[in-house]
Amino acid sequence: MQLDTLWQFMQVDMEADGFENRMRQSANRQKLIKQRDFLKDQQANMKKLENDVAVMQDRLEAIQDEAARLEKALASLSEEISANPPENVEDAQKQSENVQKLLDTLVRYEQELQKMRKDADVKDRQQKEIRVRAAKTKQEYDQLKVTYDKEFKEDTAKLQRMRARTDEEAKKVDPGLLGKYKNIKQHCTPPMAKLVNGQCSGCFMSLPSATLLEIRNGERIVECDNCGRILYDAGE
Ligand SMILES: [Zn+2]
Repeated sequence: MQLDTLWQFMQVDMEADGFENRMRQSANRQKLIKQRDFLKDQQANMKKLENDVAVMQDRLEAIQDEAARLEKALASLSEEISANPPENVEDAQKQSENVQKLLDTLVRYEQELQKMRKDADVKDRQQKEIRVRAAKTKQEYDQLKVTYDKEFKEDTAKLQRMRARTDEEAKKVDPGLLGKYKNIKQHCTPPMAKLVNGQCSGCFMSLPSATLLEIRNGERIVECDNCGRILYDAGE
């Protein structure tokens, strides 16, 4: 009976698929993926911090230059005032206002510089924390990777043996039937279902008696109207 060999084939095929799925869901593999994602995030955070620091550094230098320029201007203004003291109250007031303006600006610059130095300290601390955390995770990752690589190698060899056995079983099946099986498998797995109490055991739909009769007679391959699986009468 054609379907007996196909059913036999399906057992080893499903076993191999199941094993491959468990490989993919391996706890070590999931953990490695998580650690790798974490490391990627930390790299991105680090890059952002480095950019922020570079921008800050540029601004810091610009302010320092500007402050130096103002200090020079202030010095020459003081010199000018000592060389040509104001002749009246109005001039004195004007000069005093000019000096005060320069001083106010310098104070603002100094405040901004202080704030930036504080920000720079915070970012520096953040970078250090990230480096420590990333290094720790990288170490864990490297250790686990060694274990997982060994596990993966063994599992892959096992899967290859299972697939080889599947190939052997496939040779016993009619190629047309195998093609049908593979088509069904793309949207429904396992692709075959036993007939139990007049029902498809894949989706539990009751089958019309005419269909049941066709299956019993084994005249043609019957697929479940509802789920599309190949119906198999094990004769139980
Ligand atoms: Zn069904």
